[in-house]
Amino acid sequence: MYADVIVDITNERLDKTFQYLVPETMEKTLKPGMQVWFPFGRGNREQKGFVLELKERPDFDPEKTKALTRIAEESVSVEGELIALAAWIRENYGSTMIQALKTVLPVRDKVRGVERVTFVPARSEEEMQAYLTLCIRKNYRARVRLLKALKEEGSLTLPEAEARGISRKALKDLKESGYVCALRETVYRNPVSRADKAYERKTLSGEQQQAVDCFCRDYASGIRRVYLLHGVTGSGKTEVYLEVMDQVIAQGKQVIVLIPEIALTYQTLIRFYTRFGGRVSVINSRMSQGERYDQFERARNGEIDIMIGPRSALFTPFSHLGLIIIDEEHEASYKSENTPRYHARETAVQRANMCGASVMLGSATPSMESYYRAKTGEYRLLTLTKRVEERPLPKVYIEDMREELKAGNRSVFSRHLRALMEDRLQKGQQMMLFLNRRGYAGFLSCRSCGGVIKCPHCDVSLSVHRGKGRQKLVCHYCGHEQEMMNRCPSCGSGYISELKAGTQQIEELVQREFPGARVLRMDMDTTRRKGEHAKILSAFSERQADILIGTQMIVKGHDFPGVTLMGVLAADMSLFAGDYRASERTFQLLTQAAGRAGRGTDPGEVVIQTYQPDHYSIVMAAEQNYESFYEQELIFRRMLKYPPGAHMLAILMSCEDESHLTVGAEYLKKMIVHLYKGKDMQVIGPAEGGISRVKDRYRKNIFIKHEDYTLLTRIKDRLEQYIEANEGFDTIQIQFDFNPMNLL
Ligand code: ADP
Ligand code: ZN
Ligand code: ZN
Repeated sequence: MYADVIVDITNERLDKTFQYLVPETMEKTLKPGMQVWFPFGRGNREQKGFVLELKERPDFDPEKTKALTRIAEESVSVEGELIALAAWIRENYGSTMIQALKTVLPVRDKVRGVERVTFVPARSEEEMQAYLTLCIRKNYRARVRLLKALKEEGSLTLPEAEARGISRKALKDLKESGYVCALRETVYRNPVSRADKAYERKTLSGEQQQAVDCFCRDYASGIRRVYLLHGVTGSGKTEVYLEVMDQVIAQGKQVIVLIPEIALTYQTLIRFYTRFGGRVSVINSRMSQGERYDQFERARNGEIDIMIGPRSALFTPFSHLGLIIIDEEHEASYKSENTPRYHARETAVQRANMCGASVMLGSATPSMESYYRAKTGEYRLLTLTKRVEERPLPKVYIEDMREELKAGNRSVFSRHLRALMEDRLQKGQQMMLFLNRRGYAGFLSCRSCGGVIKCPHCDVSLSVHRGKGRQKLVCHYCGHEQEMMNRCPSCGSGYISELKAGTQQIEELVQREFPGARVLRMDMDTTRRKGEHAKILSAFSERQADILIGTQMIVKGHDFPGVTLMGVLAADMSLFAGDYRASERTFQLLTQAAGRAGRGTDPGEVVIQTYQPDHYSIVMAAEQNYESFYEQELIFRRMLKYPPGAHMLAILMSCEDESHLTVGAEYLKKMIVHLYKGKDMQVIGPAEGGISRVKDRYRKNIFIKHEDYTLLTRIKDRLEQYIEANEGFDTIQIQFDFNPMNLL
């Protein structure tokens, strides 16, 4: 057996790994993450390091491979575990070791907890008074303000002083004068303000209790595995999480809860705080590095048992991690868009395996990958089929927009939706209008027959490219190109165009057509500044508006009991986004959107407007029939070898020089085909990327499809070596993306 080790992770040379022979006596005990001693460098000095990976076969000449001396520490520390996890990430997603380490050990040392500075008087009361009089006479305005404040308050923190308009310079002068001194203490900020409400324990429904029991029975008998909690919207998944967390924590273990950033709202967090109080912490992407580091420190010190946060919370340094929960596990944001492009779900499963924890994934619309694994028995499936308290699922209507056009209605609102909106306004009930603008539009569709122009090879819609002068239609996978069209090839109609609509236009339209209605809009524009997101949501939940218009932001996990109508405008926008996940994403969005209506005591109605009323992802979403959608979609994925039918490795290339990029991409493709001839592998492309020129860089992608993930990682390794060895690739940026989520 051979071990890859890394020397000292504070060292700049940490990118380099070294291989050693594992003496037979160590073979049984040695695990990735353990610390070992080995001879190092020219003088064979004893050096300590971490084991990253164990291998059956050597990568180098075994004659020249030295052996490990001894194990330094048999127990794997959290740090060791995270380092081994980094090695796994590097191997499975492609990156350098530094990039992988920076992902799992963010802001290692250097950034300390924040120092709290408090200013206090340094002399006796009389002396202070005398000095104040002097400053008044000399007209030192800032000092006067500070001295007066100190007289009243006794002490002042730095932010308090700054709030009174006292500059840092004035503070420094005063300190130097010797009249004021600054006390420093390091505090780890606790971002969780104490919850004021007491937790009301709910009586679990039969289905909820079953799910909890199943998990707890396993857990108590030492079984650790992955559970997929599939529960319809409003079935009370969070309550199940809270219950199983309780059990895990009672055994002295810790829990990480991943929630999509967009759903990290006060509403969500308060449910965890009221249940677990100060033992909960949270991180989010708006926090500074230092703030996030503080929270990781608190986790390391055992001050908390629960960490809630987006993707990166997965790397919380808990040393007794017992459970990782991933809510809305189908969300694309769990996949990193930067190298290493790791998926939090797979990485969570790996971390759990390494430290003996379980994983619970939850969703109303599980990802194809997870459901596939649940079906094959790799994951344990737990289902909640009913909404809590027997609330009915909403009634869903599909409105065929081609019929509207035929009847002379060119408005964005179908006649049915308009009638229902008027009805709600009259009754004083709330509604939401969801504009499905996911991704980049740019596909051609026919408003008369609903047809969409697709790639003959890949069965995804072709995208309109504007490049130099002429417009053309291209496929983002295989590079297939064809002429732009101005008539529909199947029905001959001239109403063929790209679907275009923005939330702002919809808002104006609503205001024109429903004067008097109180409207709120939530999209990227209205939520740019910190806190605006929460402000809009709370205004709407306090019923300060009748209509909330928005993009995907409004459909994710919010609970507005007053909403009885959801209108989905342009349901088709996400259906033809030009990548293989388009149908899945559409089904998820529509199901989630439908799930927003009727969560209170009044039943809800949903109107889905579409040009493709017969498309299975729309029909099944309207029926809230996940199972049928899954079966249909799996047939498509298997036929075209898209995940989970097979695995896909995307090689993303970009370069300032277009012709150089073209040549480089062709070389890479030749290399792949040459190396893996006869391996029953599909190599597609090079094709232009979704946005072929970003920031003046040209982009091209190659896709490789194969059933065996390990083979794809081996291809990645070989290509990395090939790229490294050839100067021609120096000016081309190359990234690897396994089973990509977004094609941009
Ligand atoms: P989901 O995440 O599955 O859509 P939630 O967990 O948000 O559903 O639950 C929906 C609502 O139902 C919440 O307001 C929650 O407090 C409530 N709820 C959950 N379980 C129960 C229960 N057993 N009894 C009563 N109310 C419940
Ligand atoms: Zn047509
Ligand atoms: Zn194609």
